[in-house]
Amino acid sequence: MNYEAVIGLEVHAQLLTNSKIFCGCPVAFGGEPNTRVCPICLGMPGVLPVLNRCAVEYTIRMALAVDGRVAETSAFARKNYFYPDLPKGYQISQYDRAGEPISLHGGIEIAGEDGPRFVRLRRIHLEEEAGKSIHNEPGYDPDLSYIDFNRTGVPLMEIVSEPDIRSPREASAYLARLRQILQYIGVCDGNMDEGSLRCDANVSIRNPGDPLGELVEIKNMNSMRSMERALEFEIERQAEVLDDGGRVVRQTRLWDEEKRETFPMRSKEEAHDYRYFPDPDLVTVEIARSWVDEIGEDLPELPDVRMRRFVEDYGLPLDMARQLTENRARADYFEACVGQVAGDAAGDAADQVSGGADGQASGEAAGQASGEARTVSNWMLSELLRVQHENRMDQQTLEERIPPDHLAQLLGHIKGGKISGKIGKDVLDIMAESGKTPATVIEEQGLVQISDTGELEGVVDGILAEHPNDVADYRAGKTKLLGFFMGQVMRATQGKANPKMVNELLRKKLAEG
Ligand code: ADP
Ligand code: MG
Ligand code: ZN
Repeated sequence: MNYEAVIGLEVHAQLLTNSKIFCGCPVAFGGEPNTRVCPICLGMPGVLPVLNRCAVEYTIRMALAVDGRVAETSAFARKNYFYPDLPKGYQISQYDRAGEPISLHGGIEIAGEDGPRFVRLRRIHLEEEAGKSIHNEPGYDPDLSYIDFNRTGVPLMEIVSEPDIRSPREASAYLARLRQILQYIGVCDGNMDEGSLRCDANVSIRNPGDPLGELVEIKNMNSMRSMERALEFEIERQAEVLDDGGRVVRQTRLWDEEKRETFPMRSKEEAHDYRYFPDPDLVTVEIARSWVDEIGEDLPELPDVRMRRFVEDYGLPLDMARQLTENRARADYFEACVGQVAGDAAGDAADQVSGGADGQASGEAAGQASGEARTVSNWMLSELLRVQHENRMDQQTLEERIPPDHLAQLLGHIKGGKISGKIGKDVLDIMAESGKTPATVIEEQGLVQISDTGELEGVVDGILAEHPNDVADYRAGKTKLLGFFMGQVMRATQGKANPKMVNELLRKKLAEG
């Protein structure tokens, strides 16, 4: 049978606040175990949690970014369960009831299997992170289990979707989109390797048009890839169950990355299993409309809006604009670099126009801007990505080694004819390794393009003299040999000869004979 998959995701995002959600302990990844703890996050009796205002603000930011409806009052509840990494025996969370989650509704658009798909959100709520159990890791006794409470109490935002996703690919697209937004608005680093962004996937199948089927929740997937694989496996498994005349059982399953399969963990818990009740230690949060408005005004430009602006302002094709705005750091880099290039161009133009026709000069510079933007974009999306990849640099290291103004300078040297585009790529390689400015690299490596006619003529003459037979062949009509001569001249000059000039010289000299 051809079943339709129905998927809803519960995404957990650790918030980038300075301190934890209910105490003053610092929030940071890793570190010596159990060094960022206090009686509150350790759940000692008699302590009182105090809500971190910034965690609420970040959640509201996210709500506004996805068109959610921010609650006027929001409350916290205790979700009771026992687990060694949860010393209090309950997690402070928010129950799925009106007036509790910080935000309800909203949604995001993703590229679906057949055109754009709108995935509605059910709610966004705030809760505390649990600790981290350590079993069988290097440096630890394999016969013992350990617990690190550094993570306990890190603010965790949970974003719950409606079951509007229809395929594993769409699930990835949805998660990628959420991550992009989270990163843009600066509330979560989106790092799935470090667990600061995690996802539980709910999936069921049905015959198209039928009511929703029984769902299975999958946990323990720590990358987009593994989520896609887990969903594919699970959809297949459920289809086999139904095809065999069986019924899908509502349960929670874990993904085993090595075996590439899901296996049952427990029958799926229901809300009443957790004995939710209002946390008596925390007051109801009243969210003033004026505060929400303020947060809305400070919201950074969102990826979609920025993408469209890149198309309009810089005349870039949509696909390029999409790649450039994929993450905020890249988009910022692009704009910084273009700003620099345009600034230099305006400076040059102003220099050229004597007599104070400033308005005209800057008009000219703006006219060039889209061409410059295109050049910057081409270099960023090919060469810069290449050196970043080859040198295994994260965005931060890349920006330390090749800040945007260095790339702008490099493009200036190419445009001005100091070096060829080809040499420019080699210069970029050295910049990536050394962090030096392009001017320094060009000077140290002696890469300045040879554009001196006399000097080039000498080299060309030498090469032609060395290859009399080829010269004769060329003159007899084998004009394809031009490429061979070009190559020889480039080799003799370590690629530094101005290609356009060499080409002209060769044609001229070969025609002369
Ligand atoms: P809650 O856990 O909030 O009580 P559910 O367990 O119904 O609510 O929903 C949790 C998640 O499961 C949501 O993301 C929702 O979209 C998704 N979901 C609900 N029903 C189904 C279904 N039949 N198939 C797939 N996903 C579903
Ligand atoms: Mg749930
Ligand atoms: Zn603490």
